[in-house]
Amino acid sequence: MAILVLGGAGYIGSHTVYELIEAGRDVVVADNLLTGFKAAVHPKARFYQADIRDRAAMDEIFEQESIDGVIHFAASSQVGESMSNPLKYYDNNLCGTCVLLQSMVAHGVDKIVFSSTAATYGEPERVPILETDKTQPTNCYGETKLAMEKMMNWTGRAHGLRYVALRYFNACGAHPSGAIGEAHNPETHLIPLILQVPNGKREKISIFGDDYATHDGTCIRDYIHVSDLAQAHILALDYLLKGGESNVFNLGNGVGFTVKEVIDVARKVTGHPIPAEVCPRRAGDPAQLVASSEKARTVLGWNPKYADLETIVSSAWSWHKSHPNGFEG
Ligand code: UDP
Repeated sequence: MAILVLGGAGYIGSHTVYELIEAGRDVVVADNLLTGFKAAVHPKARFYQADIRDRAAMDEIFEQESIDGVIHFAASSQVGESMSNPLKYYDNNLCGTCVLLQSMVAHGVDKIVFSSTAATYGEPERVPILETDKTQPTNCYGETKLAMEKMMNWTGRAHGLRYVALRYFNACGAHPSGAIGEAHNPETHLIPLILQVPNGKREKISIFGDDYATHDGTCIRDYIHVSDLAQAHILALDYLLKGGESNVFNLGNGVGFTVKEVIDVARKVTGHPIPAEVCPRRAGDPAQLVASSEKARTVLGWNPKYADLETIVSSAWSWHKSHPNGFEG
């Protein structure tokens, strides 16, 4: 029996495929390669170039392969873009998931782990955030992910499908082997953008707003290593395979860092002065997102290995230094 990883050529998907294969699992990857990279797909995974919105392509995979469970990463994931092009997010994230679930139900595949996000909470009432806290997204990306969770819930009630939604905080870092790492085109995430400065690809980093109600005025986020996220997917899948009920878990380290603090850590790690410039706020950004991951630790037995921010930024720097153009040469 195999595990189907949708979006397995993307950042978190490719790292999860590596962990699954290292754990001896049989893995099938499907990705439309619009934002993912074929070079990021583990050579031992069977690869299908397919889009989750394509029902025939999904049906073909479920007919060709013996799929035990699905891990679903195939989605658009940029907060800023979701605000300027919301319909792209509804199409890719919601319509795509709808087609995928139709195909899963038709083929009797009833277990799915999928990427949700801290953005489902919106502006939190308190930190650290618990899974039971209010969900009121401030951006369209978070709105579509919350709707995906609800879609799974209703599908589960009607068809017996069980799901785990993993609400990630800020994924970062790279695989310890150096074989794969973060590569988005265009890049929008803070740590890779900061590291473009010492890599000679950018003159300075922009700080999006320094008038937030935080100790230095810049946004606070909870940064979590991608390999720790990958491990959580395997634990969540095993939880479902053992009969666990549908559930939602936060994944973060429970410690928040401001944008300015992250830049300081990158200066220390790289030895580069990394000039920074304060710019206007980015639309849709909550001031502070920090996770309580107690539930994932208790129920799934998740235990992040790379909790320290300097370790995380160092692993990202090793990848970016050796792959200044990501997977593109
Ligand atoms: N950010 C920034 N400058 C950049 C990119 C991001 O100040 O060039 C800030 C952004 O406003 C947010 C934090 O860094 O407060 C993390 O942003 P990212 O896009 O990495 O992740 P998100 O929190 O949106 O998932």
